[in-house]
Amino acid sequence: MKGFKESITSKRVVVAGAGVSGISVVKLLLRLGCRSILVSDKNQPAPDVLEFLTSQDIELEVGHSARILDSDLVILSPGVKLNRYPFSSMRGLGIPFMGELEMGYRFTPGRFIAVTGTNGKSTVVTLISRMLEGSVPAGNIGNPLSSFAFKKGTYVVEVSSFQLMTTVDFRPDVAAILNIDQDHLDWHSSMDEYIMAKYRIFENQHENDFLVLNYDDILTRDAAKLAPSKVLFFSTKEKVNAHVENGVLKVHLPTGKSFDIVKRNELRVEGEHNVRNALAASLIALLAGASVDRVRDVLLNFTGLPHRIELVVEHKGVRVYNDSKATNPHAVLGALSAFEGNVILIMGGEEKHLDYSTLVPEIKDKVKFLIIFGKNSPHLERVFQGVVSTFKARDLKEVVELSFSLSAPGDAILFSPGTSSFDMFKNYKERGERFKDEVKRFVCR
Ligand code: ADP
Repeated sequence: MKGFKESITSKRVVVAGAGVSGISVVKLLLRLGCRSILVSDKNQPAPDVLEFLTSQDIELEVGHSARILDSDLVILSPGVKLNRYPFSSMRGLGIPFMGELEMGYRFTPGRFIAVTGTNGKSTVVTLISRMLEGSVPAGNIGNPLSSFAFKKGTYVVEVSSFQLMTTVDFRPDVAAILNIDQDHLDWHSSMDEYIMAKYRIFENQHENDFLVLNYDDILTRDAAKLAPSKVLFFSTKEKVNAHVENGVLKVHLPTGKSFDIVKRNELRVEGEHNVRNALAASLIALLAGASVDRVRDVLLNFTGLPHRIELVVEHKGVRVYNDSKATNPHAVLGALSAFEGNVILIMGGEEKHLDYSTLVPEIKDKVKFLIIFGKNSPHLERVFQGVVSTFKARDLKEVVELSFSLSAPGDAILFSPGTSSFDMFKNYKERGERFKDEVKRFVCR
């Protein structure tokens, strides 16, 4: 690693992706004295990025060219598709590459707690970083690890499967896999590749490191068989390291210490999945040295992140929830676990070729009407034909009007799309904000 740091100044480095992560890496490379940097993005970068690159005299190419293969090191932003040319040729040609996370890790001293999983990463990273005094949320949550270079600290890193595909030496002191279910099958070449990417979070761990796993999720539980580190579990069903007993969340550490954290009904977020998130976060934070008082305090005050089963309004006895961050069926299942029934569910968006049949029993049980919109509507319509009364809408305005017209007092309108937003919106945030605006417009007319 020492050699790597010293030699980087003379390397011809390509940074793929000119978003937040890419620009953070460019800044790190400049600090390291790197003289030859090419930034490559498939699209024209934002004006402020262009201005920055010009001011630093850094070359930019729009559209990934074969020049990427004529470099000494390629640093990839999350989301760059490894199986597309020219990136697909890097391995064969022996071009060294790594992700932004790996690069950040190599230059950031400190302790690392890394959290991955199909769903719940941002929620759990937020909880842990609030519970563990002095720690910093980093990674996929919006603060690239490379932006903390040379600053010693305790980093609670949200790690996606994309980022794990491009780690090399990344070794968290505590790693966690919250759950694994189908997602990003438009990006990964198979479900196996997606699972193996998640498992890479513990690949470099040593025997004194910790791996925290969800006992209730078979794909996650199975990771224990391959782990080189000490495994701890959380579960809402079995009596493992973090579990629920007589309605109380409890943690039992390997040191022999046990803690009663909070009562399940004291949590201010709904759903079985949020109990699991609370268990995982408490276990990890206590393991890393948080005080039980602080852990308790954080849970008692946590009302959830925006766009995750967020209550928008109660109008004439109908509650409306924005769960725009639900970008896969597993997250919709999580959201439905928060309701007893009488749900008007809104789904739809980008076609990610996911299997929605896993939702059928829960939809039969709890959903009165399903409203679908967006690009994957024909797919959803096929799956839920004969399962639930389904209505199609053209846009969010129509979605909102339809859902109110179908609702009765006591119902819940749940906007939990179950796929990504890119067919109609910039991202899940824009989609959620637009949904909330339409709801407010409807209610105020
Ligand atoms: P991520 O960062 O992994 O995308 P978030 O905490 O942002 O996770 O939540 C994403 C979506 O998944 C939201 O719709 C949320 O309600 C749902 N969710 C959160 N935690 C879980 C979980 N443990 N299991 C299933 N769904 C979850």
